[in-house]
Amino acid sequence: MPIRKVAILGSTGSIGVNTLDVIRLHPERFKVVALTAGKQIDRLAEQCTEFQPVIAVVADMDGASRLSQILKERNIATQVLQGPAALVAAVMQSDCDTVMAAIVGAAGLVPTLAAAKAGKRVLLANKEALVMSGDLFMQAMQSAGGELLPIDSEHNAIFQCLPPRSSEASQDVFGVEELWLTASGGPFRNTPLSDLSSVTPEQACAHPNWVMGRKISVDSATMMNKGLELIEAFWLFGLPLEKMRVLIHPQSVVHSMVRYRDGSVIAQMGQPDMRTPIAYGLAWPERIQAGVESLDLTQLAALSFSEPDLKRFPCLALASAAAREGGTAPAILNAANEIAVAAFLDAGLPYLRIPEVVEQTLNQMQSVRASSLELILEVDAQARQVAGNTVRKFTH
Ligand code: NAD
Ligand code: MG
Repeated sequence: MPIRKVAILGSTGSIGVNTLDVIRLHPERFKVVALTAGKQIDRLAEQCTEFQPVIAVVADMDGASRLSQILKERNIATQVLQGPAALVAAVMQSDCDTVMAAIVGAAGLVPTLAAAKAGKRVLLANKEALVMSGDLFMQAMQSAGGELLPIDSEHNAIFQCLPPRSSEASQDVFGVEELWLTASGGPFRNTPLSDLSSVTPEQACAHPNWVMGRKISVDSATMMNKGLELIEAFWLFGLPLEKMRVLIHPQSVVHSMVRYRDGSVIAQMGQPDMRTPIAYGLAWPERIQAGVESLDLTQLAALSFSEPDLKRFPCLALASAAAREGGTAPAILNAANEIAVAAFLDAGLPYLRIPEVVEQTLNQMQSVRASSLELILEVDAQARQVAGNTVRKFTH
């Protein structure tokens, strides 16, 4: 069995650390050739010491010199690079064949697209890349001929529930009627609406079932995450938006489902543990140990499913509307949401203002065809500015 050479974009984050946990169990199958992080130098230094990649990338000069110093003291020969362009170098110059795209937010777009264009196996956790540039990204994957494995648990579940290779053939042949994305409903599923105005970042990040980075945890609380996932599913599976449903499923045991024409509904179940979809993507089409406890159905209480309440979760409605509008609307939505969530986490923006910032940004900008990466990056920058102005109105 040839060894897979893996680059991990965002190795110090929640997905990155889980990916290394799976890889650690299979030294005969995987070799880590590139690791990248934003600012967590100490954690990256430990990872480099253990896995000795060819290349390590950090966000800035300061971080790079600190990391170089530590690795030099430890006699580790990893080349240390810095800055956004070096993320692309980690993909192109590390001799990797597999890329885990796990940088959070728009920062992950360019290197992820580079991996697609280079025909790598792309393990896609960074949903924001697909939301911003789904059309370009899917075209790049297709023309370069790499394999795209969704890591987001819902999309990984749907991928497992679809017939093999069905994303390349027409779903119609296989009788696929609908994709059902499950959502936990986050920490505020039952919180009285009148209490939401005083929600703190700590409360919003305390997800009932999953341990994740702070940005996606807030997105789960507002359900913007599920909205981004609808757009992600649209690009990954090529079904019209009318054929996708969101179901609140607080237990997070059924990770998503596919409903077929003949009445069958196929679901993928498991522990809420990202190592399962990560292991699936790493070894596909084989299945390997992921270090995940097996599911004991007899120990579970009832599983329940319900419709989401769009009054409680206006971000889900905003994302659905942006998805229907298409063009650059999803990129505008994504950028405004990143700004609003960062302001909620670090600058005192009230929780209920998050959807308002997103909505006002969408209202102030015209959606156009998302025809090139340059245009998408320009729209992203502009939307951040517009959203930033709205945030200032709400925080002063
Ligand atoms: P995280 O915040 O824990 O980690 C993010 C990683 O990206 C870190 O390594 C960080 O150093 C790096 N990073 C952040 N900003 C950067 C920048 N400007 N330049 C370079 N590197 C930067 O996030 P996470 O929870 O691991 O999520 C990562 C991605 O995976 C997100 O797109 C998220 O939506 C998606 N995802 C996560 C989960 C989960 O369970 N955590 C599930 C599904 C999808
Ligand atoms: Mg998900």
